[in-house]
Amino acid sequence: MRIDLDGLTRFCQQHSISCRTGTPMREYTTFRVGGNAAFSALPSSAEELNLLVRELRRIKADPVWFIGRGSNLLVSDNGLDGVVVFTWGLSELKRDGQLLIADAGVGMNALCRMAQSEGMTGLEFAYGIPGTVGGGVFMNAGAYGGEVRDVIEWAEYLDESGEVCRLAKEKLELSYRRSIFSAHPGWCILRAAFRLENGNKQLIGDKMTELMARRREKQPLEFASAGSTFKRPEGAFAGSLIEQCGLKGTRVGNAQVSEKHAGFIVNLGGATCAEINELIEKVQQTVQQQTGYWLEPEVRRLGD
Ligand SMILES: Cc1cc2nc3c(=O)[nH]c(=O)nc-3n(C[C@H](O)[C@H](O)[C@H](O)COP(=O)(O)OP(=O)(O)OC[C@H]3O[C@@H](n4cnc5c(N)ncnc54)[C@H](O)[C@@H]3O)c2cc1C
Repeated sequence: MRIDLDGLTRFCQQHSISCRTGTPMREYTTFRVGGNAAFSALPSSAEELNLLVRELRRIKADPVWFIGRGSNLLVSDNGLDGVVVFTWGLSELKRDGQLLIADAGVGMNALCRMAQSEGMTGLEFAYGIPGTVGGGVFMNAGAYGGEVRDVIEWAEYLDESGEVCRLAKEKLELSYRRSIFSAHPGWCILRAAFRLENGNKQLIGDKMTELMARRREKQPLEFASAGSTFKRPEGAFAGSLIEQCGLKGTRVGNAQVSEKHAGFIVNLGGATCAEINELIEKVQQTVQQQTGYWLEPEVRRLGD
């Protein structure tokens, strides 16, 4: 990337947008992995984001990544030679009739808690998914039989030229861990609306508590990870296939196939992206040789 980082820093300062050069991505991803991003910015409103996107376009910054809580990312040890725009400064959350409207940076858990306190049902499945609304829409995040597609009404985004656009649910092309945004990395999700039903606060809260307990029981939450490393292949479960192949506990350096849940690769502390990638490959090859299934990574790899 050849852009004037001093000029971009001055632009951000003039508009009170928090920014930084040489941002250590391991501090901004739940895997705790990744080298430095050349430049990062944290707009605190849709207006600031809009200004920034227009400026990035004007100076032809490329590549640009929009990143939420980094809970589904595997960033290269060599870092990111481009601009990272963190979206978690966009944090408005409100009710409008049967809709909850949340900015992209609102945490999924905060959204679920608001639904519960308003006595609105439909989002219980998402409680415990550790990302933002933007990341959840991008990934069509799902768990325990539910997914974003079931409850979303529309999403708004900024296109490459800084225009605000809105797409209704049917146009969002939501499928298993995919959305229209997967094919348009230059679009930044701004906010989304979720249509919920009236429900009983106590029952909603009980369901959320139950699902969180199931996560704690089954998932290795004591270690850094990006959740399920692989997508569920048609007709099988990645975790079961990996376990069946005797791979639980397999290590490359400090990356390990979790002993608690074989579907998770965990960082035991100080693992590198290279180690995690080598372990991913080892798992893919062993599972293919022994079962015939090819496991596609669910984690999104950024950088070289
Ligand atoms: C312990 C653990 C458990 C998990 N459990 C689940 C689970 O049950 N179900 C599930 O689906 N996932 C799960 N995940 C994975 C992850 O939490 C989800 O994919 C989540 O939706 C990602 O949100 P995020 O804000 O962290 O996105 P990030 O990881 O920051 O980004 C993910 C992708 O979305 C894009 N993106 C993010 N925000 C925007 C935006 N505003 N505009 C445009 N693009 C954007 C990024 O560029 C990237 O490509 C788990 C992860 C962990 C660590």
